[in-house]
This record gives sequence, structure tokens and C-alpha cells, in this order.
Amino acid sequence: MRMEDAGLPVVAIVGRPNVGKSSLFNRLLGARRAIVDDAPGVTRDRVTARASVGGRAFMLVDTGGFSADAPRDPGTIAARVREQALAAMQEADCVVCVLDGQAGVVAEDRDVVRLLRRSGKPVLWAVNKIDNAGREALLADVFSAGVEEPLAVSAAHGRGIGELRNAILAALPERAAAPEAARGTRLALLGRPNVGKSSLLNRLLGSERAIVAPEPGTTRDAVDTRIIVDGRSYVLVDTAGIRKQGRAKDDLERHGAVRALGQIEGADLALVVLDAAEGITDQDSRIIGRALEAGRGVLLLANKWDTVPPTRKDAPSFRADATALRPAFASLPMLCVSAHTGENVGDVFPRVAAIEQAYGATLPTPALNRALRAAVGEHPPASVRGRVPSLLYATQTGTRPPTITVFSSNPAGIAPAYVRYLTTKLRDAFGLVGVPLKLTLRARATSGRRPIGRAPTARRSRPRRGAGPRSRRR
Ligand code: GDP
Repeated sequence: MRMEDAGLPVVAIVGRPNVGKSSLFNRLLGARRAIVDDAPGVTRDRVTARASVGGRAFMLVDTGGFSADAPRDPGTIAARVREQALAAMQEADCVVCVLDGQAGVVAEDRDVVRLLRRSGKPVLWAVNKIDNAGREALLADVFSAGVEEPLAVSAAHGRGIGELRNAILAALPERAAAPEAARGTRLALLGRPNVGKSSLLNRLLGSERAIVAPEPGTTRDAVDTRIIVDGRSYVLVDTAGIRKQGRAKDDLERHGAVRALGQIEGADLALVVLDAAEGITDQDSRIIGRALEAGRGVLLLANKWDTVPPTRKDAPSFRADATALRPAFASLPMLCVSAHTGENVGDVFPRVAAIEQAYGATLPTPALNRALRAAVGEHPPASVRGRVPSLLYATQTGTRPPTITVFSSNPAGIAPAYVRYLTTKLRDAFGLVGVPLKLTLRARATSGRRPIGRAPTARRSRPRRGAGPRSRRR
């Protein structure tokens, strides 16, 4: 294998001798590479070649390594096919099992069919030698042997190869580093045990607007769920964990906390589920705090809204009560929902989309500086040794979450409370609900040489994630 081939997904072709594995191998490559012979058990080592489908490269492996003098005893052949299949199951990301449509599923095939069906790997069943349309009836036999989705192909005549290639493309694992946009917004469903996370997950996935992507993917995606709602792509992080948690209730505190941290790291937005009957508990506020500290967007979901008595079912006052002692959360978006009745669950994704937009917002520099001047004008910072630190200029230096750098004559002289004040003012000015706006103060560059009216970072073209302005040191 060449260096650049390492790391490519592996597709292995398995099947007993003479079903047409190497003909199919060649068809899939689009070039004649392997030796093909009609005699059963023709000499050939395991053949590997780089192939591609739909722009995706993969390694195609023909596991047909039978030697010419391989025993013809059906029992031994079955054992060898089994060996091949086991190796393929271990090494391959996708297995193409070739069956002979004319011979049907014979004794030597049965074991391997059973093995592959239980492997958990994507298996494509290529029923070969279906040379013309009339022969499709041959599939019935294969079907009755437990192969539920046979693909009729003819390696010799090139029939069904397009379908097989499409099926391979669909079965390839997700690319390791898909671009962020294609990955979709990553959402973590967090909360204490029993607040209704798994119930809510089921509601969200079961909604008419949600299309749950069927593709199995990488190891990560195996525990995540990819869904499309209103044309937007989302990944619900660690859904396997949420489901499992619903079942196994022991040791929840420890696992719940550890997992929550991992989920926060892997997500863009945290949907923190609360129990509406209890408001925001200490444990809830720790989870919310962690998500905000990590720079994630937050949407609060007060679940079990159906259990709140009708006289108290007023969302704004519920929210005011819940955040009365936690002013830091007062501006977080909250939805009162019920996983049981479905009430307001339909609002979750539209709200998520709005938060997502704010999370990735680009704030125009002039508007940012107008908002900064207004905030300072309304309430200037306290003076330090008789001098009021000046706040000169603000610019966005990152997104997801939006990060703003404010240049000051004396950053050390600005109290943390004042930074919080500014953060709130700027967040309100841009309607950034549910996202932790990050504000950092920096010393302005040695001035004097700077042309009047020219802002220190005016040349910065575009905000970069997490990047601060360059060469600002004295
Ligand atoms: P998780 O531990 O956070 O995943 O919580 P579960 O989804 O397992 O739910 C815990 C319990 O709360 C279960 O008995 C659910 O039936 C119940 N539950 C979940 N959502 C609601 C809801 O909206 N209303 C009511 N009344 N009960 C709920």
C-alpha cells in the first residue's frame, strides 16, 4: 500500500471460488488488473488496488487467495471462505459478498452469509452471473437464504455495476475531516438524569420534519445521530449515550458528569434539559455554566411542562422565577416543552437555527464601534488614579462563538464587572441570544505614528476563529 493509500476506507470482496470475485474486482476498478480464469481455485494472491467512486477513493481488496492446489473438498473450501470473510470483517469498512446467481446459495455459502449478516459491518450482496433481465428470477433463491437486499450484477457483461458502485459509495464511512459546514451544527442534549433527555430525543427524532440520516459512519457517528430538519443538517452528539443512560440507571451521577463534559467539547450548542417542576437546580446550573465557559451556545429546555398546573403555566414568569437567583442565565433562551405531549417541541429546531446563526455571526466593525461608544457613553468605566481608562476600538476577532477584542489605554484598569457590562450591552445590541459573546481587552498599540482616524486593526480583512490581532505588543 502506498503512503497516501493508508487511511483510505477498505472495501473487501469475499465469496467462495469461482463466483466471479476477480471479474467483479476488475469491473469495479474499471481496468483489467487481476488474472481471471474460469477454473475454480485459480492461483492468485490477495489483490489490492486503489479504486474510487463518486470522487471518494478507497482500497479494494479481493480476498480470493486460494492457491491452485487448494483442496476441492467443499468442507475445506467453506472453511477457507470463512477465514477470508473473518479477515475481511476485521479489516474492511465494507464487505462485498459475491454469490453465484446461477448456482444459488450453496452449502459453502451459508456459513459465510450467516457470519457476515451478524458482523455489524455494511455488507453488499452482489449476486453475480445475472446476465440478462430474465435471470432476475434467480434472486429469489438468494433471498430465501436470508440475503434481503441482493444486488443483481453481471461482472462479465457489466450489468448492475453502477448500482453496486453507488451502494459502495453509500456504505463508505464518513470522511474523517469533513468540512464544518457539511458536518452540520453539533448539538449536545445535556441534563441531570431523569429530566427527560431520552424522551425528548425520541420526540425530536420522531418529528415529521426531521429526517434521520441512515448512513452508518465513522466510530464517532456510530454514537451520534445525523438529522436534517428544514433543510439544515444537525448532529446530535452521543445519542447512544443518552439512550443507554435511559436504560441503565446505576452509576449515573459519575457517568453523566463525565459524559457531559465530553459532549460539551464535541458540540457547538448545548440543549440543557431541565425539569419544569423543579426549575433550575444547582446541578443544572453547573451544567449550564460549563457549557457557557466552554464557549458553547445554550438553549434551555424546561421539560415536563405538562406537569405544571394550568394556573402556573406561564412561560415568561416561569423563566423569571427560575432565573431569579441566577441572573447570569436570565438572558438565555428557554423553551417550555413536554416530551410527553409534544407541546412546543416543534419550536426547538427553529430556535436552534436562530442560536446557530448568532453563534456564527459576523459583526460589522462600524456597528460594533457605535455600540461600544454608546455603552461607554451611557456608563463609563471607573477611573484609575484619577484617569478614566479609554476604550478605543472594538473588532471581531473570532466566530463560533463571536469573539470581540476591545483596545484600551489601560486594560488592567478595567474591572471584570465592567467587562460583563460591556458584554451584555454588545450582545443586546446585536441580538445575540443564547451565545456566550467573548470579550477580551488588549492594550492599544503604541500610537502617535498611527494616522489619525485610522483604527489599529483596520487592515484585518476577516475575523479568524480564536485568532487575536497580530503584533500588538509594545
Ligand atoms: P433521562 O434520564 O434524562 O434520559 O430521562 P428519561 O427520558 O428517561 O425520562 C425520565 C422519566 O421522566 C421517565 O419516566 C419519562 O417517562 C418521564 N418524562 C420524560 N419527559 C416527560 C414529560 O415531558 N412529561 C412527563 N410528565 N414526564 C416525562
